[in-house]
Amino acid sequence: MNCQEKTQYYLDRIAKYNPKLNCYLTVCAKEALAAARAADQRRAKKESLGPLDGVPIALKDIFVTEGIKTTCGSKILNNYIPPYDGTTASALKKGGAVLLGKLNLDEFAMGSSNEFSGFGPVQNPWKEGYIPGGSSGGSAAALAADLCPLSMGTDTGGSIRQPAALCGVVGLKPTYGRVTRYGIIAFASSLDQAGPMARTVEDCALLMNVVAGYDAKDSTSLNVPAEDFTKKLKQPVKGLKLGLPREYFINGMDAEVTTAVQKAAKKFEDLGAKVEEMSLPHTQYAVPCYYIIAPAEASANLARYDGVRFGHRAGNPKDLLDLYERSRSEGFGAEVTMRIVIGTFVLSTGYYDAYYLKAQKVRTLIKKDFTDAFQKFDAILTPTTPTPAFKIGEKTDDPIKMYLSDIFTIPVNLAGLPGLALPCGFSKTGLPVGMQLIGKHLDEATLFQLGFAYEQATDWHKRKPSLVMSHGS
Ligand code: GLN
Repeated sequence: MNCQEKTQYYLDRIAKYNPKLNCYLTVCAKEALAAARAADQRRAKKESLGPLDGVPIALKDIFVTEGIKTTCGSKILNNYIPPYDGTTASALKKGGAVLLGKLNLDEFAMGSSNEFSGFGPVQNPWKEGYIPGGSSGGSAAALAADLCPLSMGTDTGGSIRQPAALCGVVGLKPTYGRVTRYGIIAFASSLDQAGPMARTVEDCALLMNVVAGYDAKDSTSLNVPAEDFTKKLKQPVKGLKLGLPREYFINGMDAEVTTAVQKAAKKFEDLGAKVEEMSLPHTQYAVPCYYIIAPAEASANLARYDGVRFGHRAGNPKDLLDLYERSRSEGFGAEVTMRIVIGTFVLSTGYYDAYYLKAQKVRTLIKKDFTDAFQKFDAILTPTTPTPAFKIGEKTDDPIKMYLSDIFTIPVNLAGLPGLALPCGFSKTGLPVGMQLIGKHLDEATLFQLGFAYEQATDWHKRKPSLVMSHGS
């Protein structure tokens, strides 16, 4: 297939399945076909812009794209057409990648199920009526349903890894600062990190090669030399030491998840790695700590949507205050509003020390757990989520239950470390189960090495959903 045929293949699948799955918020058919045609012309002349030249990709609708609507899943940005490309979008464009469209997400990436999108939920392609995870639910579901071969997500507390696990695909949350934040709409800036998603570890590493790198436009970008993330893929994992943290196998989690991850640990042992139980003692504080820091930063970041500088503007305001109030309350959904209120509260005089400052101290302790562990271990193996995908509507009324679905991913963001999620089994009901490999600072390559070795020894990643949806297709 040439690039145009490949692109048309995806556009046809999107036309067929997206009405039901709701993965794409915007499809860029015309632009994609034009980019594919240009790639085919380069190919005919034996020219290439790089490894992704002519390869279709889709972006979470949090990446700003010049001339293409970017909503961040929010009604407040319903009509936002960015005047510029973020660094990731422009790196992909320069590399010849073909942008198929923009993918659904929870509003401002706040959520774990995609149910908080301002544009309707996404269906899990493995089972109708089930959530795909969130907030990068569209990015994960589109991969699982083969509505794109590669996608990009963002991960502030688990939003790449959790949906990857629940949809049976691969996703990397890179080391904080590895992939630029310039041009991803900000949620919680000390935690936000963009990363690659794909159906195999190798594809994920190849996409990482294109999107990782120093960016002077992001003040927290890490100025480290470029790296080939596929360099260790084929190296044996014999002798590598994996830690299995006690705190990640807890009461109340699904027995099928525990069993699948224990089997994965055994598989690593069969491959020659050493697996040992260990402890990350401050794990239990991660979720409460995150739900102070993330809303605090969000309340500051979201102040810009005031109906004047950015976003929806309420009609016929009485005065300026009325304009602000109504623009924001008409534009933001309930979850985002709640986070802004919590965030404003924990930063306010009198509460700052008791909440925000204390959370920052706890964050340091959580980080130290990992620093200590990595004295001894090369990587840490955990489940990605405590349960497989849940039903649409099951947790929307209980924020704590919803927040706990990120219990195993949040500590990694607080510590700024890389985490790779990949499939390691299926539940009896046919839903994917995922494991997470947590790595040392900047050591994504070892995670890819371990993930690749596991993939070669198993075939979970080869399964595909049958996509029998009630509308008959
Ligand atoms: N589910 C978490 C939250 O709601 C994480 C979201 C994310 O990583 N963007 O905040």
